[in-house]
Amino acid sequence: RQQDAMANRSKDDLRSPICCILGHVDTGKTKLLDKIRQTNVQEGEAGGITQQIGATFFPADAIEKKTAVLGPDRAEKLKVPGILVIDTPGHESFTNLRSRGSSLCNIAILVVDIMHGLEPQTLESIRLLRDRKTPFIVALNKIDRLFEWKAIPDNSFVDSLAKQKPSVQAEFEKRVSETLLAFAEQGLNSQLYYKNKNFAKYVSLVPTSAHTGEGIPDMLNLLINLTQSRMSEKLMYITELECTVLEVKVIEGLGTTIDVVLVNGWLHEGDRIVVCGLNGPIVTTVRALLTPQPMRELRIKSQYVHHKSVKAALGIKISAPDLEKAIAGSRLLVVGPDDDIEDLKEEVMSDLTNLMTSIDRTGHGVWVQASTLGALEALLEFLKTSKIPVSGINIGPVHKKDVVKASVMLEKAREFAVMLCFDVKVDKEAEEMAEEMGIRVFTADIIYHLFDRFQEYHASITEQKRKDQASSAVFPCVLKMIPRAVINKKDPIIIGVDVIEGTLRLGTPLCVIKTNAETQAREIITLGKVTSIEQNHKTMEQVKKGGAGGGVAIKIECAVYETPKTYGRHFEDSDELYSKVTRQSIDILKESFRNDLSKEEWALVVKLKKVLGVD
Ligand code: GDP
Repeated sequence: RQQDAMANRSKDDLRSPICCILGHVDTGKTKLLDKIRQTNVQEGEAGGITQQIGATFFPADAIEKKTAVLGPDRAEKLKVPGILVIDTPGHESFTNLRSRGSSLCNIAILVVDIMHGLEPQTLESIRLLRDRKTPFIVALNKIDRLFEWKAIPDNSFVDSLAKQKPSVQAEFEKRVSETLLAFAEQGLNSQLYYKNKNFAKYVSLVPTSAHTGEGIPDMLNLLINLTQSRMSEKLMYITELECTVLEVKVIEGLGTTIDVVLVNGWLHEGDRIVVCGLNGPIVTTVRALLTPQPMRELRIKSQYVHHKSVKAALGIKISAPDLEKAIAGSRLLVVGPDDDIEDLKEEVMSDLTNLMTSIDRTGHGVWVQASTLGALEALLEFLKTSKIPVSGINIGPVHKKDVVKASVMLEKAREFAVMLCFDVKVDKEAEEMAEEMGIRVFTADIIYHLFDRFQEYHASITEQKRKDQASSAVFPCVLKMIPRAVINKKDPIIIGVDVIEGTLRLGTPLCVIKTNAETQAREIITLGKVTSIEQNHKTMEQVKKGGAGGGVAIKIECAVYETPKTYGRHFEDSDELYSKVTRQSIDILKESFRNDLSKEEWALVVKLKKVLGVD
């Protein structure tokens, strides 16, 4: 009964859902947010590209006003206090809204440009959303760019569409079906939201225009409907604190501050807090809690409001001493009266130490660096599924000391002397140093671009290695001499042979095994390397077991420093000729030619190893 009481109380006390916006660059993420907010953040930014992270709270009454135009289609009464939208210029804030590997983002808007369809970062966003199991809707933005679209500002989309010319409606339908198909190719079922009968199975598409405001009421309404009907459990207000650091920023007059999202619980001025730092846990005391004005962004400096205490959900700036080394993406914990501070320190640091477990035990692998804890986590997850080993990690800009650490791989495994840098700057000196040392530095803000570039590089290095090692590789074969087919006894030896096991290739060193008549010891006698293979006067590169329909004539030459061997003295018709494998030649085969040998041939390598007594 007590539980029921809890549930009832909580249901009346829903907190605001947290919403992230993701998508490809230039699809209109900033503009869309801006349109809802009716301010002009985008125009104030360089090139219209958003670089900063902020959170905007959309209170329930503002949403009600905005959605009034939908009339009877509007959601039943709003139960949530509003929506907290995180202003995302990429995946940073999404990946940083995390706690113990799961996402704190309740719902996401994936913005797609209706004129462009799915683009590289759209796919990356889908992957992130899937990994973190975050529900999302798709804003199919820029509908005003459909040819001859007649705008009705801030209207409901369904009504606006009904008022368009048939040709406009036809273009819309065509582009929508292309988008549905593209999503299907990504394994996602999707449907226009007003045709969607199954929200659990189909992702909803909301057509929008950030310029005319059309479809925005529909989008807000959909967000409210989805969060209220499908995730009220998650939104029940609980007193346990849930808070993540989105960004670490230096602010004039305040020093280093952290922008955090308080997802659940309370924060108070004077609270002792613990966050994860690059050099260990940071324990400090909240000096000021600064929140933005409603409908304003964190980044507008003069608008800070000081608070004695705040309740979730909201984006806040925390001013406190000693935050210089704090890591974005870290959890924030508050020290309670009964808490053991050492436990809390260990807990915040576990986010970083858990990532250390991704490091390859043998110490072979690429160096990985990312801007934030969340971004690093996402990249490491991806590398794990791609089976790319990692030898070391760091967070923040790449400096010389990182290059030094990565350079260990130059000796160990050249193909891994690579730094994969996700969403971070590489300092000039570090870049020069890497170049000098021969370490490849790949930077990108799309994870799989890093992957592609690494694969390409890896393939070229591996190919080079194969070429370099080709002359030292020994492919296994066993030959039988054809009786009375000796053309030249020595210098060079030219004889007729049958390949009875494996494949004979040009360059293969051959040997025979003899028992010393005096000592009875087994001796391996190296004859030389095969420098020519011929059949019916046709030269060949290689002959397979029983291949080429009969015997071949081979020429065997020994190196200048070896004593030439002679037929009749060192070997005779009854001897079998073997590839002369060594420990080193087997290692080379394993390293660079593993897939060039069949299972049978590998078995032959093992056999030869025994016959020739290679350990
Ligand atoms: P972001 O990189 O996703 O944040 O994209 P922005 O919001 O910066 O928008 C990129 C460009 O597309 C800007 O020039 C916007 O004015 C333009 N844009 C955004 N939304 C719309 C829209 O709905 N219609 C049209 N015609 N242009 C848009």
